[in-house]
Amino acid sequence: MPRGANLPVIAAFNETVLLDAIRRSGSGLSRVELVGATGLSAQTVTNVSRRLLTQGLIREAGSRPVDGPGKPRTILQLEPTGSYAVGVHLDPTVITCVLLDLESAVVEHTRRHAPVSGDAAETVLLAADAVGEILERSGVERGRVRGIGVAAPGPIDAGTGVVVSPPLIPGWSGLRLRDELAAATGLPALVAKDVTAAAVAEHWRDPAGASGDFAFVYYGTGVGVGLVLANQVYTGASHNAGDVGHSIVDPGGALCSCGRRGCYGESVRPRQLVQQGIRDGVLSRPEGAGDDLDVETVDELFTALTAAADDGGFAAGRILDHSIANTSLYLTNLSALLDIDRVVFGGPYWGRVEARYLERLPLQLAEDDMGIMTHPLTIASSAVGDDVAAIGAACLVLDRAFSPRSNLT
Ligand SMILES: [Zn+2]
Repeated sequence: MPRGANLPVIAAFNETVLLDAIRRSGSGLSRVELVGATGLSAQTVTNVSRRLLTQGLIREAGSRPVDGPGKPRTILQLEPTGSYAVGVHLDPTVITCVLLDLESAVVEHTRRHAPVSGDAAETVLLAADAVGEILERSGVERGRVRGIGVAAPGPIDAGTGVVVSPPLIPGWSGLRLRDELAAATGLPALVAKDVTAAAVAEHWRDPAGASGDFAFVYYGTGVGVGLVLANQVYTGASHNAGDVGHSIVDPGGALCSCGRRGCYGESVRPRQLVQQGIRDGVLSRPEGAGDDLDVETVDELFTALTAAADDGGFAAGRILDHSIANTSLYLTNLSALLDIDRVVFGGPYWGRVEARYLERLPLQLAEDDMGIMTHPLTIASSAVGDDVAAIGAACLVLDRAFSPRSNLT
């Protein structure tokens, strides 16, 4: 390597090393602490932090006394307004859009219904419109926005940003999501699988002391699992890890699109539970609705089903409890395979079953355990909330820009 040829690359790399250390510290670090945290020399830390201060990416935020004699040390923190990232989550029913500042705090948020038709071009236009709205409302200069992270249902081609063939939204097959959204907004974009993005956000907001080995179960139109193993978000060989839909948990169960019976995804997804509710007479089919219920009808009927169960309805409760039993079987297998000790649930349909799952799933897990599991499995709700996948997609943009070893996209 010719001497000096890569100096700008090394300088930029050192900036990301410093920013990453400051981001992860939470409350900021002094220059001396940064030397210890990064392994860079004191002179390099001084030079790089000066550049970051000039760029407005960090700020000096008070000082901390030292043990023993010596001057108090100035603390360097992120300047939240120094840079921003947009996160978009494309779900078959809803498009969520968030704007994150450099500290990964949500500055703006908007939602709109996804087109009922499932039309790809219309979906991209709506997403671009949502991005425009939050940027305008926030007043943030476009030059400070690093890009857009899009969380989309898999399978995806992370290299080209194409949605390959999502089973629940055939209209999006082959959608060149990254390039089309970039063209429609004028901002660079990246595409990640929705469950991966959700796991990223959950991991960022993990409470102190939480274990670094957990699964995130995303309960949306379908069900998917994001994995954090040894404190890293696990994406798999092609960035498509987490497709749990066709693992069989109930061989005598409902027929799945893959031709087999009792696939986990099919047995718990809201559409299936609602159709069971209609068959059992708990729900009535809306007038004029055919066998193939549209997404908004499924959403309304799912609310009715869960409300009936909450009111003590036996038949409605039995349908949900069957989904809890299938989830328990699936999680018993997953936990035995990966030795995770925590499962976090989230997604747009989770809130409606949350209370019942949190009460009954641990009991069912204890019953299914049969001495297989070496430790209990903790069940929790997302600490991030309904926007988890959109927030995670925006975190990926910040990670790519400011983390020295991002391997996610
Ligand atoms: Zn299947």
